[in-house]
Amino acid sequence: MNNDCIFCKIAKGEIPSYKVYEDENTFVFLDIANDFYGHTLVIPKKHVKSIVEADEKTMLNVFKTVQLISNHYIKNCGFSGVNIVNNCGESAGQTVMHFHIHIFPRKENDLGEVGWKQENISELKLDDLIKQLKYTKM
Ligand code: AMP
Ligand code: ZN
Repeated sequence: MNNDCIFCKIAKGEIPSYKVYEDENTFVFLDIANDFYGHTLVIPKKHVKSIVEADEKTMLNVFKTVQLISNHYIKNCGFSGVNIVNNCGESAGQTVMHFHIHIFPRKENDLGEVGWKQENISELKLDDLIKQLKYTKM
């Protein structure tokens, strides 16, 4: 628990939320941004700043719940797909520094657009890019 963290307070019920689901380790609630129909957040109850700082157990708990709720939305709530998004770090648009996964439930021909700008990266650039990004596990 981080006393200055709004999502810790939501997970503890100290701040009201539109709760979708809760279990021992995770909490799921509607995003109040009012930007996308069904926009949902999945958080660990444990305070972890971001996905890169999350321990293995927290990752497992969060993604199990992401899968559970995605299945629920698709099987029981009239949606046919989901976009799953994580913003990690301020440059990536993270505004709440408590690890969270966004679920955007989708329907055919809905009005939603979750995506990124097309940059048309040439094959030449991919040659450079792979040198920068290739990872070999130690
Ligand atoms: P991010 O930009 O990835 O850090 O996402 C943070 C999200 O938290 C935004 O989409 C906000 O709309 C949402 N948010 C902030 N405060 C609350 C709150 N009290 N209840 C529900 N969602 C919130
Ligand atoms: Zn927190």
